[in-house]
Amino acid sequence: MKIICVGRNYADHIEELKNEKPTDPVLFLKPDTSILLKKQPFFIPDFSEEVHHEVEVLVKIKKIGKHIDRKFAHKYYDEIGLGIDFTARDLQAKLKEKGLPWEKSKAFDGAAVIGNFLPKETFKSVDDINFSLEKNGEIAQNASTKLMLWKIDELIEYISKYFTLKIGDVIFTGTPAGVAKVNSEDKLKGYIEDKQMFSIKVK
Ligand code: ZN
Repeated sequence: MKIICVGRNYADHIEELKNEKPTDPVLFLKPDTSILLKKQPFFIPDFSEEVHHEVEVLVKIKKIGKHIDRKFAHKYYDEIGLGIDFTARDLQAKLKEKGLPWEKSKAFDGAAVIGNFLPKETFKSVDDINFSLEKNGEIAQNASTKLMLWKIDELIEYISKYFTLKIGDVIFTGTPAGVAKVNSEDKLKGYIEDKQMFSIKVK
């Protein structure tokens, strides 16, 4: 399986990082080795002084497809989840400055938290799902998928122009504002509506 991530998909997050608004979705990949094993803590890697949490809605692909039209995109997934795209922000800033790929800052071991999934039918619309991240009992990030610049079906259309989507692939759909540094002993809990989707300890 592969993990396809979307960058800069919420206007408020683009502003907080002072990035330019893209004309196309920004895509990058994480390898399967980046998935944080279930029930394991997240260890801050020694090559970074500033790892940020990015809570993101996940889409699990259930059917192989290429050049998927957005009209039919809904047939390619029936589970929605929640995860974290951990990002070594200091390292990413250095790489961005030099125009180099971001992989070292986003694809390292443990950098992809994949929480639980819910059936798509749970929601009236996948384009109006409320989700949040709680850090040490306080809301750190809180948004709705209606604030996405590119909605889930548009992302599937765009991604599948470049990458064949296969069963079990997971799309990280981008983070809203509120990204911040994690510290050792932090407790992170992710919610879709009022359902807890993951709980992680930082070490
Ligand atoms: Zn992200």
